[in-house]
Parts: sequence; structure tokens; C-alpha cells
Amino acid sequence: ASGAAVPTGRAAFDRGPLLAVTGASTTVPLVDGTSRTYANLDCAASAPALASVAARVAEVLPLYASVHRGAGYLSQVSTALYEASRQSIARFVGAREDDVAIVTRNTTDSLNLLAGVVPEGGAVLVLDVEHHANLLPWVQRSTGARSGTGRVATVLPIAETVAATLDALRDELARRPYALLTLTGASNVTGESLPLDRVVALAHAAGTRVAVDGAQLVPHRGFSLAASDVDYVAFSGHKTYAPFGAGALVGRRDWLDTGTPYLAGGGAVRDVRTDRTVWQPAPARHEAGSPNVLGAIALAQACDTLAALPAGALEAHEQALRERLVTGLEAIDGVRVARIWPDAVDPVGVVTFTVGDLNPGLVAAYLSAEHGIGVRDGRFCAHPLLARLGASHGAVRASVGVGTTVEHVDRLVAALTTLLTRGP
Ligand code: PLP
Repeated sequence: ASGAAVPTGRAAFDRGPLLAVTGASTTVPLVDGTSRTYANLDCAASAPALASVAARVAEVLPLYASVHRGAGYLSQVSTALYEASRQSIARFVGAREDDVAIVTRNTTDSLNLLAGVVPEGGAVLVLDVEHHANLLPWVQRSTGARSGTGRVATVLPIAETVAATLDALRDELARRPYALLTLTGASNVTGESLPLDRVVALAHAAGTRVAVDGAQLVPHRGFSLAASDVDYVAFSGHKTYAPFGAGALVGRRDWLDTGTPYLAGGGAVRDVRTDRTVWQPAPARHEAGSPNVLGAIALAQACDTLAALPAGALEAHEQALRERLVTGLEAIDGVRVARIWPDAVDPVGVVTFTVGDLNPGLVAAYLSAEHGIGVRDGRFCAHPLLARLGASHGAVRASVGVGTTVEHVDRLVAALTTLLTRGP
């Protein structure tokens, strides 16, 4: 980051979105026969690609050729671009010199990969507020434990406050040795998080490594493995302003070098005989098959573009939009904004709410059909958390990103006000 002045307050909005994204001027049909510019308030699910990413994809598409073992000139170019992408991705999440960056399909893929390399017998601790992607791979391992693989996952219920949850974590970490604690960097439901520095200190004091599900944290805030001392981070390209299909797992080399290869196949091996296989170290060990070269290049471009933002710009943009959104929603009689902890600070730009007794699916359909607003409804792949929040039947989620403007936020608040005034 260059350290240039960060625009704050109203002036930041007057200049429009923080970065140019594709599809920003797309118009969508409304139910009354008119059309309107799309207000994409579903960035936490999948964010629109950056304009710089679209340009980069167009530029490299003609250079597309097989990587790693191709001898032709374009294969050499493609290989160099792919490996340079790995460097960009690693740099973006502040990888330490000895960390490995593995190109995966998305966060789900990354966390399943990590679940497979935790050393045999290593217990894993996970909280009950997680997205299913950071819950089910570990619970599956627990099932594996019962069937004899010797690995166990414990799902720890959070407490009423951040402070009490940290105490519960401390107690649990002291109760037995854990190889890994894995937690979200920012909730995909409320944007909230535990203070990572405190969590890392507690875990490391107990000899436990920490993995962060960075699906929401990385694109909304940026992240540094080196600065946070976190051991592993997973994130998704399609939430980081790149297209679908590429994500990353970045972190400590030892488990990744020796753990079970994620996929068996070509590229992951050094030597294969009929009676034995010699696997490569990471990252090749976990990248069998032809890799998603274009996806990695696109993700790397998104990383480079975000990294070039002035220090604090991303956070300032999203915080201002989030504050405006929450203030607007809370001013509407009947709208309730969900919070996990009363003492959580500095949530990212993801806001979940209920609208009176209205069905969340109907609210989302109304926002789309009558106002051209895209939000998400349902249980957001976090069923235990939605139950905890008293929203087992679902809720509505609005999330902002670098392409979001104050007009999008104001349109949502006005549309909900209209809905509650006039009735569905
Ligand atoms: N973790 C969190 C916090 C998420 O928000 C998501 C996606 O919504 C995931 C994991 C899974 O991401 P993906 O579907 O890209 O694998």
C-alpha cells in the first residue's frame, strides 16, 4: 500500500466506488416493465470481478498453454505466469518466506485440503459459529476418528460475549492438546470476529496452530500471515473480485509437505512405479491434474489491485457503507439486525437482518423485482449460527464491496421502508 491519504466521510462516496468493477452499469428488468441499474449487495457471496481483472484475463487468454511440463514457448510463458500468480497470492496474504501457497478451487477446497494434512492423532478445535465450509471438513474428520483414523474434532459452543468466548477457548485449549484451532476471520452472517491477536496468543501458548477461514476477512480487509502470526489462511477468488474457480490455501510448509496429497494424479508425483509412488512436496503435492491457470492469474491480478490501494482505503470504504447501512436499517421499525456478540468490534461489511415476520425469501424477491437490488436470503451455510441467532427460518443478508456505492445502500433502506409502510 502506498500510504496516500485515505478519503473518509461523505467525500469518499461522492467519488463513487472505491474500484471499478465489471457489470457496474448493468440494468436489470423490474416487475413494472421498467429497468434499473443493478445494486449488487451480495458481494459476500460472490463479488463482481474488478475491471483490472477483466482486462488481465483478456490480455493473457491468447497466451494460454499447458503449464509445468510443456516445452513450447507459450507453455513457458503460461508456467511463468502461473508461478508468478502464486507469488502475488502469497504476498497479498503476507506469507512468510517459508510458507506455501496452494492454488485451490475456493475456501471450501482449501479447508478440506488442510483437514487432510493435520498429522495423524492431531485434535482440531472449531467454534459453532462457522460457515459449513469450516465446520463440516472437521466434523467429517471426527467421524473418521470413530472409524479409526485417530483424528478428533471438537465443536466448541461460543459464549454470550467475546470476552467469555475467549475464556471458553482458553479453558478448552488447556483441557487437552489440540493440533489446530480453526476459526473464521469474519462471520459470513454478521461480519463479526473474535480478536485474532488474542486468539492466536491463546492457541500458540497451548502449542496449537491457528487456521483462519479468510473467505470474508481477506477480501473485505486484507490480511497478513506474518503480522498476525496465524499459521494458515484460506480464501476464495470469487469473493475477492476474481472469477469463480480459483482460491488459495497459504501457510506453514511442514504439514503441507508431508500430509496426504489432496488429489492423486499427474503433477503431484516425482516418480511412480507399479509398487510405489514418490510424491512431490507442496505445492505440487496438492495440485494434481491440469491447474486453473487463468483462474490463478485472475486471482493474482485481483490481489495485486487490492494490494495497491492506499493503506486503510478498503476498510474506510466498507466501514462507512456498513455504518450507513446499519444505521438506516435500525431506524426502520420492524427491522432487526443480527449480532453474535454485544462486545464484538469492527465487523466487516456483511449485515444480516430480519424484516418483521416477513419471509426472507419474499423480502429478497421484492427487493430484486421492484428495486433491482441483489441480496441473499436463507441460512447462509451457517445453520448452527442462524439457530443461535434465533433465525432458524432464515434471514436477509446485505453485503458491500469495493464497487458498492452509497446509492445502493440508500436504495435498500428506502425499499425496506416502503415495504414496511405499505405492507407486502
Ligand atoms: N467461509 C466463509 C466465511 C464464507 O463466507 C464462505 C462462502 O460463503 C465460505 C467459507 C465458502 O466459500 P466457497 O464457497 O468459495 O468455498
